[in-house]
Amino acid sequence: MSQAILQQLQQLRQQLEEYSYQYYVLDNPTVPDAEYDRLYRQLQQLETEHPQLITSDSPTQRVGAAPLAKFGQVSHSIPMLSLDNAFDAADFSAFYKRMAERLDNSAEFSFCCEPKLDGLAVSIRYENGILVQAATRGDGYTGEDITSNVKTIRAVPLKLKGKALPAVLEVRGEVFMPLAGFTQMNDRARAAGEKVFANPRNAAAGSLRQLDPKISAQRPLMFYAYAVGAVDDPQGLLSSQSHYQRLMQLKDWGLPVCPEIRLVSGAEQALAYYQDILQRRSQLAYEIDGVVIKVSDLAQQQALGFVARAPRWAIAFKFPAQEMLTTLLDVEFQV
Ligand code: NAD
Repeated sequence: MSQAILQQLQQLRQQLEEYSYQYYVLDNPTVPDAEYDRLYRQLQQLETEHPQLITSDSPTQRVGAAPLAKFGQVSHSIPMLSLDNAFDAADFSAFYKRMAERLDNSAEFSFCCEPKLDGLAVSIRYENGILVQAATRGDGYTGEDITSNVKTIRAVPLKLKGKALPAVLEVRGEVFMPLAGFTQMNDRARAAGEKVFANPRNAAAGSLRQLDPKISAQRPLMFYAYAVGAVDDPQGLLSSQSHYQRLMQLKDWGLPVCPEIRLVSGAEQALAYYQDILQRRSQLAYEIDGVVIKVSDLAQQQALGFVARAPRWAIAFKFPAQEMLTTLLDVEFQV
């Protein structure tokens, strides 16, 4: 094995670890996402060529970063994973082919198509309809306890609607800052001579991970649910059929679900959804960095399963990069 490859692998891993730490733990990215993604793909490519050199602590095997010590820790009994990425139609078609082959080329797919909200993944636990805990994704297995902060988000119900509810329902979704609130908040900060946030994602992360929930309460945060985690549902209330149906149930129970979500049939319609959202991106009230396309049928999801850090049945189909390194580096961050 060439020494040069080993060295290249090590350098890429170190660099990506450092960027991840700045991004996830310090909420203070130092390079644009596109640059991170480029290095990540380079690492993935090298590892594909030399699978014997994959280490269990490689960034390709992990999700996010370890939680900050200052918050209490919450362990996720069902891990909060990441998503595989597609950057163009060829990547998407490879994703589709891989799934079709695994299901003997006989399956038809319904896809739940969702905007990929640019915020922070959180898991909110309801027991008999009452919000009891909220946590960040952290490294996917252990997150930070941000219950008090999440309770200040007005869109998040403290109590679910409906008489019959699962005994335990973990709702997963994205906390983000809508653009109007972000602009207003930064205008006010600028007028008062205070620091401004670089972008809405950074603002949402900084707001949610405040140790003082009174500060979080003043921040215009929003939440959309997009998945279900651990469930204890002896009455079988939650749909066992499809992801889309589950999201509609969450909505009935009072949880906000993104109104742009659509159920479509087949790859062509999923691609059309991507194009449509890409075109309307600048008119949306929040920032997104792509769409997420998920196989909706839960039996198919189960048959497809997971790889190291992501499900095989979903893909984040990213939009072309928008942000520039200069804008990221020019603006001071507030954490
Ligand atoms: P990801 O952002 O590619 O996808 C997973 C995340 O998507 C989920 O955790 C969730 O928060 C979010 N999401 C939004 N809408 C969703 C929906 N409808 N359904 C499911 N999930 C949804 O993966 P990641 O592991 O969070 O992060 C990797 C990305 O983060 C990279 O691609 C890179 O762009 C960025 N990153 C940047 C830096 C940097 O230094 N700039 C460092 C690390 C990571």
